[in-house]
Amino acid sequence: MDIQYVDTYELTRAGQEIRGQAPIDQFERLIEDLPEQADTTVSWSIKGEMDAFGQRFLHVHVIAAPLLECQRCMKPLEWAVDSQNRLQVVNSEAALDVDDGTDVDPDDAIERILGSQRLDVLALVEDEIILSLPYVPKHDVCSLLSESLAEEPDADEVRPSPFAVLDQLKKN
Ligand SMILES: [Zn+2]
Repeated sequence: MDIQYVDTYELTRAGQEIRGQAPIDQFERLIEDLPEQADTTVSWSIKGEMDAFGQRFLHVHVIAAPLLECQRCMKPLEWAVDSQNRLQVVNSEAALDVDDGTDVDPDDAIERILGSQRLDVLALVEDEIILSLPYVPKHDVCSLLSESLAEEPDADEVRPSPFAVLDQLKKN
């Protein structure tokens, strides 16, 4: 892993963009309540911006493919995450919750994060993924995917052993 921490002041002042990738297993908070993950990679980019008023922003783009548990059939469900978000970087804890007076819909209100010379990039990326997950993940059509996933591991367990079949024949 190349970049773990960034200086948000530097990034936004210079309008820099950073990119990186990490195995999904590295995001422990994300996967702790999820089924065993496939060997996928999380890709991200973060671009700094400072507007004409001196307001600082981070444009965060995250691509990931976590495996969730379908709440209908309880089988794994691959969830494609392709999330873009714009966060405002503020200078103090107090500014995180500032009501700017305009009566905006909470859904439209921009998210704020605290500026830092050592912003934990992976934690930020992890938050973005977690926020993009559905509360109740479900397959569009359960049977198709669950059957194809279930077939391989279950085939041996379900098939009776040759001896059991012989026993059955003798009894008859
Ligand atoms: Zn399902």
